[in-house]
Amino acid sequence: MLDPEKRGIMRNITDTQQPDPEHFWQALERRDPSFDGQFFFGVITTGVYCRPSCACRRPLRKNVRFFQYAAEAERAGFRPCLRCRPLAAIGQDPDTDRIRQASEFIRAHAQEPLTLAEMAQQASLSRFHFQRTFKAVMGVTPRQFAEACRLDVLKTELRQQRSVTDAIFEAGFGSLSRVYEKVDTRLGMTPVEYRSGGKHVPISYVAVSSALGRMMIGATDRGLCFVQFAETDEELLAQLRLEYPQALLQPMVEPYPDQFAAWMHALEQHVRGQQPRLELPLDLRATAFQMQVWQYLQSIPYGSVQSYAEVAQALRQPTAARAVARACATNRVALVIPCHRVIRGTGEMAGYRWGVERKRVLLDQERAVSRNAGR
Ligand SMILES: [Zn+2]
Repeated sequence: MLDPEKRGIMRNITDTQQPDPEHFWQALERRDPSFDGQFFFGVITTGVYCRPSCACRRPLRKNVRFFQYAAEAERAGFRPCLRCRPLAAIGQDPDTDRIRQASEFIRAHAQEPLTLAEMAQQASLSRFHFQRTFKAVMGVTPRQFAEACRLDVLKTELRQQRSVTDAIFEAGFGSLSRVYEKVDTRLGMTPVEYRSGGKHVPISYVAVSSALGRMMIGATDRGLCFVQFAETDEELLAQLRLEYPQALLQPMVEPYPDQFAAWMHALEQHVRGQQPRLELPLDLRATAFQMQVWQYLQSIPYGSVQSYAEVAQALRQPTAARAVARACATNRVALVIPCHRVIRGTGEMAGYRWGVERKRVLLDQERAVSRNAGR
């Protein structure tokens, strides 16, 4: 469908999916319901995707990404809009739709202690059926989901600089000890550190040219926290701000500290296929599940690929393939956490946060290097 000549690696992933962005944009501006289900649009500033007729305020065009399928939007890290419920527009199977509604309810009531029966009632399903379907659709149990929502509320409260104790009670944890039991694995830091540390963590960054386009590298004093690609340095900086809104971002100036220069060199070499093994220190905050997936990805050998389902199997959570895809889509450190080595079960390339063409180039190169090494 695309002229291979024009299919440079610099293209954005969405470019390969938009036959006519102008057409889509006009439909979006008109809020044309006849386009519902034909395409979806994600707003990069909010991380939400909608159907064309959504009543929400029209976003700036530069912040909009178009998708033909809801799944593509989700793989790119967008969440369905709670207002227009884009999934309902394409008449997904009723159970999935019910589970989505129930999950919205759980999120909206994250601060209240909900019983499984109450959650199941929202979906009009039996407790047993609800539990099983929920896990299949969402990749986690209803209880794990509710807890993650509570942690989200807590993080938001903490970012809004409320007192830590207020924030913990506000988030529905009920006691200090309950939340401290969780934070080591989930939040990465204690609530006090998350607020004060998250706010003042200095991150040094620099953008360089690489074989895959502009690449930005960001690091704390503990390790790399950001390796991403984009067309322009402005986009890269915007991505960095989005990931670390509270951090102290400092552009790195030459001469770079030895360690940082060594990391940069290793990454540039890796992109060129000259340094297959990449073991660099990381400093990441993540949910327990994200951490599990990301750690596992680092064990997939250079030159080989696995499917989302295989990764889920390996983590002993066979129904979590979608959640694995989400964890890949939210990877902040390209290459070091090789999410490009995960593909669809059908062998298709599937999405890549930094453009499917970059993924193709990386995989082709890894295969070629491995083949030559095997000779
Ligand atoms: Zn919407």
